[in-house]
Amino acid sequence: MKIANPYLNAPAGAWLRGNLHTHTTASDGAQPIQKVVDDYAALGYDFLSISDHDIFTGEADYAKLDGHGLVLIPGNEVTRNGVHLLHVGADRLLEPHADRQQVIDEINASTGFAVINHPNWLVDFNHCPFPLLDQWQGYVGMEIYNGTIGRLDGSPYATDKWDRLLVQGRRVWGFANDDSHLPGADIGLGWNMVGTADRSVSGILDALRRGCFYGSTGVTITSISVNGNRIRVETAGADRIIAYQQVGREFANVEGASLEVEVPANARYVRFECLGRGGRAAWTQPFFIESE
Ligand SMILES: [Zn+2]
Ligand SMILES: [Zn+2]
Repeated sequence: MKIANPYLNAPAGAWLRGNLHTHTTASDGAQPIQKVVDDYAALGYDFLSISDHDIFTGEADYAKLDGHGLVLIPGNEVTRNGVHLLHVGADRLLEPHADRQQVIDEINASTGFAVINHPNWLVDFNHCPFPLLDQWQGYVGMEIYNGTIGRLDGSPYATDKWDRLLVQGRRVWGFANDDSHLPGADIGLGWNMVGTADRSVSGILDALRRGCFYGSTGVTITSISVNGNRIRVETAGADRIIAYQQVGREFANVEGASLEVEVPANARYVRFECLGRGGRAAWTQPFFIESE
């Protein structure tokens, strides 16, 4: 059994915290960009991407701000004409074609990558129906947690659709973002912890593309290691850890802050959810099992 470990090259202790989905008064956010940057800096974030609706925010915009040392990543939320998706690390504004595969292809021809947003938003919990996620190719990830959807219709979580993709061997990473529009309540709900010692736009984007990050709403993963056919996860703040394989099937579910499992012989992938007090959680990326 060969386990593909996305955290293989994570430097010990070097994790950067950031949010990739943020609105300002340039679209329908409530605060101007400087105030939004101030708020994330005050929470100790390392990186942030402004992603207004069909508006490109790039280096020239960030150069006018006091960034407080935050790594500011160019972005846009492709919005009109269909399912919303993030253009992370954008270099220009792209046309929001109704054919989202065309948008994803154009994103991949740019400096950035695509993340499908809040799949389970709206009254039918189905902003992005599974057949579209299944059909589209070339996106790097999807939001498995979107904080702002918690106060709107539908569900902020989308691990259900994620598991359906993963069991087919689709290499799609799970992102946790705020999608913040309002000050206070929307800020600091969900974030990504990125394993890289390279504190730059390119360093963070590179680690994200490789899946060397995990999503969190408050639980910290302190160590993830693979040894033979065993995987060990250690946390600060989890009081229960669940290991999943296949389509939402638990193969370990234990109380405690750490868990070591033997990967089941027939697993196609495994992933871990680390649950803590007050609904806090952390989600590892999937470890794909490759036959030798
Ligand atoms: Zn959206
Ligand atoms: Zn948004």
